[in-house]
Amino acid sequence: MARAIMGLMPPRSACTGEVRLQGRDLFSLSKKEKQELLGKQIAMVFQDPGRSLNPVVRVERQISEGMRKHLGVSKSEAHTRALQLLNEVGVPDPEPRLRNYPHEMSGGMRQRVMLAIALACEPVLLIADEPTTALDVTIQRQILDLLRSVQRDRGMAMMLISHDLSVVAGRTDRVSVMYAGRLSETGPTRGVFESPRHRYTEALLAATPSLATERHQRLRVIDGSLPDPVSPPAGCRFAPRCEFSTSACIDPGPALITSSREHQFACLHPVESAAPSTVAAGQGGH
Ligand code: SF4
Repeated sequence: MARAIMGLMPPRSACTGEVRLQGRDLFSLSKKEKQELLGKQIAMVFQDPGRSLNPVVRVERQISEGMRKHLGVSKSEAHTRALQLLNEVGVPDPEPRLRNYPHEMSGGMRQRVMLAIALACEPVLLIADEPTTALDVTIQRQILDLLRSVQRDRGMAMMLISHDLSVVAGRTDRVSVMYAGRLSETGPTRGVFESPRHRYTEALLAATPSLATERHQRLRVIDGSLPDPVSPPAGCRFAPRCEFSTSACIDPGPALITSSREHQFACLHPVESAAPSTVAAGQGGH
């Protein structure tokens, strides 16, 4: 989904639906308009900075490139701004760092550089795609804290993609749970974590260890494996692994159901909640 938003899908792929940024549908923009928008208003931080940074180009040029292209700043302005950005993302002694190649930096430093590149054109939306997967645990926390402080200081929206529920729980306002490419549940993070309605969200949370988990206690697992994304099952894609599945889950399958003004889920036999919801079979799509 993030790649579709960024226009990074392979040329023959089809993207349908709407992606709205400040009222404009990204899929209806011309190629030129989209190129102007991407990298400037929407920026992305990828999971492995070692593979996303250009190994044969110095850090300064990689940070300055977008600024010079999108903002039209001079070389010396871009240099000053690159220094400020490295300071902002916590790179110590930034002046000599600008002359480094990516391989001369640690993984954490490289991810800070990636963030500096992403922030260079003052984006309104930052997409962080598993930004800490390639880092060790201590550095992961530093990068996540940095992302949060930068997002708050700049008043920028951030879309954080993660399979780590503890990362999502502490650092997001809203969460959308996806399974096999489809939206299962979406709502305020606290509401979804405390009172999940979709059976997949429930199973996912039950499979997560917590501080209250006893030693040697067996964690719950979700039996089965992910469906083939090329030919996914009909109806609810979680049905082959769901113990509550009925024929209605496969045909017609669930539509997105609203349980409260902000909380929606796509499940025909949802987890009971204190608040009543209207549950009905839908068109099999979400
Ligand atoms: S719609 Fe049916 S199969 Fe899918 S998660 Fe809900 S109960 Fe399970």
